[in-house]
Amino acid sequence: MQDTTRKLKRVDLIFTEDCSYKGILEQTLKRPKEEIIQDVLDSGLRGRGGAGFPTGLKWKFTAQEKSDEKFVICNADEGEPGTFKDREILLKVPHKVFGGMAVCAYVIGAKEGYMYLRGEYEFLKEDIQKQIDEFHEKLDDLGFDFRIKLLLGSGAYICGEESALFESMEGKRGEPRNKPPYPTQKGFRNEPTVINNVETLVYALMICNIGSQKFQELGTADSRGSKVFSVSGDTPIPGIYELELGMSLAEFVEEFGDGDTKSVQVGGAAGFCVPRKNFNDTIIGFEGVPTGGSMMLFNSSRSMYNVLRNYVEFFREESCGQCTPCRVGCQQLLKGIEEVKRGKQPTTYLQTLMRLTEVMKMTAKCGLGQSVANSFSSIVDNFKEEMIY
Ligand code: SF4
Repeated sequence: MQDTTRKLKRVDLIFTEDCSYKGILEQTLKRPKEEIIQDVLDSGLRGRGGAGFPTGLKWKFTAQEKSDEKFVICNADEGEPGTFKDREILLKVPHKVFGGMAVCAYVIGAKEGYMYLRGEYEFLKEDIQKQIDEFHEKLDDLGFDFRIKLLLGSGAYICGEESALFESMEGKRGEPRNKPPYPTQKGFRNEPTVINNVETLVYALMICNIGSQKFQELGTADSRGSKVFSVSGDTPIPGIYELELGMSLAEFVEEFGDGDTKSVQVGGAAGFCVPRKNFNDTIIGFEGVPTGGSMMLFNSSRSMYNVLRNYVEFFREESCGQCTPCRVGCQQLLKGIEEVKRGKQPTTYLQTLMRLTEVMKMTAKCGLGQSVANSFSSIVDNFKEEMIY
């Protein structure tokens, strides 16, 4: 049973300035490594990129690997449509991201870290490099041997997938690798690697500051803590908000909607479209609808056919082409919905397309092709009449 008495709560852990990251680092780098890993494990922090793997476990597995070289990588390749919260974090509190990387480096035994920045965020590059240089001076003061390098992607969505990101960093075409082995064993340059996204690293640092208990008190059993959301679409107050996990979508819409919200796309193009009739029963969190942070609101003036068409077109453009279910599947889905709309295919053809998304879910090699089914089936299921007329 979900807790229906829970109320949407704003939190200020990420953007709060009432902490000195140098002070946190100074304290943390004196603590036993195992104790820090245990703290991150106890906090229940799960990756904030969407997949939600427990951060403490990732750190623990990498720390256990025997290797002379290990890496910590900050995944700043924020490419999900409707997501812009990492950009804001990097603009406002970059030092906290580097702080999280340094703590991770300390516990796993890495001397080198990389920030892989989304190609479209080139305008941030100069400023981030300046902040990294300042951060290195602080690390020197603390006597901690760790260096961060900044790399810029070329604007390919698939390079946000961790193994495609390693390939890209190694100067190769950004295509996902077969798994296993996982990055904790063989990541960048086939060495043990922790790869966390921007927001996750800041939370790891904040847990070192406030303690695992305080973090655990926020959220639900499956979704501990808070999360930063990028709110866009038909809302009078678009922007970035840090909210406690576990709220219902009804509460979210009450706060951010324009009074006429007919659906919310939770988690970008790879996420789920939730119609109004399900707002009360939908929990935002890993036990309900997980999200990397993108929340797009649509009101009754929007055509859900156009929304879906945009998403499928996006996937067709961004498919790396390595595997057939995704490469051909995306093309066929786009062609299919256009033909149904024009009356060149019968309505029942939508069911054939739904079966195709199920095949893609089972057979595509990576998350891109596997997740096309999420938005496709949730939009077609709930807004079938808009697909036809
Ligand atoms: S699912 Fe798509 S993006 Fe992923 S490997 Fe296959 S073709 Fe490339």
